[in-house]
Amino acid sequence: MSNHMFDAIGEAARPGATFIETLDGRVWTYDEMLATSSRLAATLERLSVKPGDRVAVQVEKSPEALMLYLACLRAGAVYLPLNTAYTIAELDYFIGDAEPRLVVSTPDAAEGVRAIAAKHGAHVETLDDRGGGSLPQLAREMEPDFKNAVRGPEDLAAILYTSGTTGRSKGAMLTHDNLLSNALALRDYWHFTAADRLIHALPIFHTHGLFVASNVVLLSGASMYFLPKFDADEVLRLMPKATAMMGVPTFYVRLVQHEGLNHEVAAGMRLFVSGSAPLLAETYTRFREMTGHAILERYGMTETNMNTSNPYDGERIAGTVGFPLPGVSLRITDPETGGPLGIDETGMIEVRGPNVFKGYWQMPEKTEAEFRPDGFFITGDLGKIDAKGYVHIVGRGKDLVISGGYNIYPKEVETEIDQLPGVVESAVIGVPHPDFGEGVTAIVVRKPDAEVNEDTVLKGLKERLARYKQPKRVIFIDDLPRNTMGKVQKNVLRESYKSLYS
Ligand code: ATP
Ligand code: MG
Repeated sequence: MSNHMFDAIGEAARPGATFIETLDGRVWTYDEMLATSSRLAATLERLSVKPGDRVAVQVEKSPEALMLYLACLRAGAVYLPLNTAYTIAELDYFIGDAEPRLVVSTPDAAEGVRAIAAKHGAHVETLDDRGGGSLPQLAREMEPDFKNAVRGPEDLAAILYTSGTTGRSKGAMLTHDNLLSNALALRDYWHFTAADRLIHALPIFHTHGLFVASNVVLLSGASMYFLPKFDADEVLRLMPKATAMMGVPTFYVRLVQHEGLNHEVAAGMRLFVSGSAPLLAETYTRFREMTGHAILERYGMTETNMNTSNPYDGERIAGTVGFPLPGVSLRITDPETGGPLGIDETGMIEVRGPNVFKGYWQMPEKTEAEFRPDGFFITGDLGKIDAKGYVHIVGRGKDLVISGGYNIYPKEVETEIDQLPGVVESAVIGVPHPDFGEGVTAIVVRKPDAEVNEDTVLKGLKERLARYKQPKRVIFIDDLPRNTMGKVQKNVLRESYKSLYS
């Protein structure tokens, strides 16, 4: 009797070897991982969690929280991690939507969570960031001999909510094989082995830290340094002992600003991966100058796991996300007609493969609208494939600016602005405009003491961009609004400046 995902994890587990080490020196071996996840799976069963039931989890990052994910796989439950930043009101939406049997919360939040859970017929247990709480207490009474639930490739393993960058988060239904196929593809593509020691500073409620990082480590029998959150000092302290790191672009932006980053500290590292948001070419170049390492950028989404990656051995090109992973088909289509587009033509990115999710939870119409009849998923991201086969992401379809009947891709304008002296970064958005429909608007972050102003930006772009692409206004702010994954929240910017031209 098999359990598709966990059997693979069990086979890769190396008895006696370290799986996780935390900053305070706690170590979890693979044996402990197996025993703890077994006890927790037995606890789930005792709490009447049946195969297919959802287990919603809103707790701080800890090894125990990861063990709870593994316990859900073993018990056949559907793991549903929630961003720790969600408020009680937001939680009400997720619990109501997902209808979990069990909600695991932090002891601090338990009271508020209980009130919501009661409304939706869910039971509540607690887990704190040090492995304490009512759930581990129950687990300690269990024997570590849980018989894994039978789960096939097509059975649900998790529901992950999207980051909510473009609107309300949607629950993506991911199967055992979505997770396993992608983790194996990444392990092999990125040459992960049992000798690897990964710096894990990502949250584990998102596909990046939960599936990309943790599953790749598990399936290679490797180990990881588990940080509660990103901290440049800690990361640099661990770097000489580690071999790989996975991060969002913000990690790398902070590292290149740190005087402790140099060739020596990164000498033992073999791989730096970036994803979840676009990596600025300047960050890539600076990191390479400071360490000798070319950051490997990849592209994925909650719904699809990872789709593309720059090559391990070949050239890693800044500003591209590389090639489709083995087993993944990727095409570019005309957003209006759905017809195929050629090399270097910008259009909608569509993907198909064992990595692509089963659909949005409780949203059959939305699911149907986002799939083509031949099974390709319409990602909502715009991009192109160049003559060498590298995929470039141009931006999200929802961020496209249409001004005076012309399509303007924000990234093209942002790239030009970012190259101007005194500019750190920029976000270009469309804002309602009485004459043009939308007015191209640039929100710019400048370097401390830089002389740059609206006039110099507009002058700097004059010769470089067609007139219709040039911003109507340039606004300076201290920092771009970002969510926990480092994604720029353009909807927040559009809301802030919606009356600019009225
Ligand atoms: P929502 O779908 O709720 O609006 P979201 O799309 O930000 O939120 P995620 O699934 O976390 O939620 O993010 C996936 C998106 O992140 C992709 O569709 C893409 O737009 C962006 N992304 C991921 N990796 C990269 C990358 N390397 N470069 C540019 N964009 C990326
Ligand atoms: Mg999305």
